[in-house]
Amino acid sequence: MSISGQITKIRQDLPERVKLVCVSKFHPDEAILEAYESGERVFGESKVQELTGKHERLPKDIEWHFIGHLQTNKVKFLVPFVSLIHGVDSLKLLNEIDKQAKKADKTVSCLLQVHIAEESTKFGFSPSEMKDIFKEGRLKEFENIRLLGLMGMATFTDNTEQVRKEFRTLKTLLTDIQSDFSMEYPCFGEISMGMSDDYKIAIEEGSTLVRIGSTIFGHRNYGSFE
Ligand SMILES: *Cc1c(COP(=O)(O)O)cnc(C)c1O
Repeated sequence: MSISGQITKIRQDLPERVKLVCVSKFHPDEAILEAYESGERVFGESKVQELTGKHERLPKDIEWHFIGHLQTNKVKFLVPFVSLIHGVDSLKLLNEIDKQAKKADKTVSCLLQVHIAEESTKFGFSPSEMKDIFKEGRLKEFENIRLLGLMGMATFTDNTEQVRKEFRTLKTLLTDIQSDFSMEYPCFGEISMGMSDDYKIAIEEGSTLVRIGSTIFGHRNYGSFE
């Protein structure tokens, strides 16, 4: 099926509250333009260099989301134009984003990544670390960061009950933080979870942002940008 055909199909599954992030990493500009022509404006990338190049070449009303693992030395390249950084996984990284945002006289929107999967390879804070960071007020110093919510990736498995349980852990954590810190973080309500294989479960469990790549654009050719 064509890119626009796949998007139409996916959009039928999405309730009003859920935003679609078209994950275009490793796909060429033409593929993004096809999605753009069918009305999509939010695209997700996971490599800084690939993202900055696409941002320069493609229409300026695209909202670019960074969904990969971000290294502190690359933050400065994203800050001028990025709309949302999904996977912030350390205080050190928050500190650098805040510093670069101050320099650029901007406020940068971020989601905090929580480790919900069984695999140890996935990045993020543990749920208890996350709660401690809020309790200890460690996020207050970052004046140029707008914290919008949480992001997580479920275990790569066919066991849908496990995936559901992990998404539920993330949603519960969000609800706990919202009820304890609504005064300090009134905008904290987004929950980025769900990819091609598990977005329907993620939506049932309260996702507000789904990050979908291969279902829209097909398989990625990892050679093309490396
Ligand atoms: C690549 C990627 C996606 C998209 O994955 P698909 O399975 O192709 O939909 C979503 N989220 C993150 C963090 C990714 O790196």
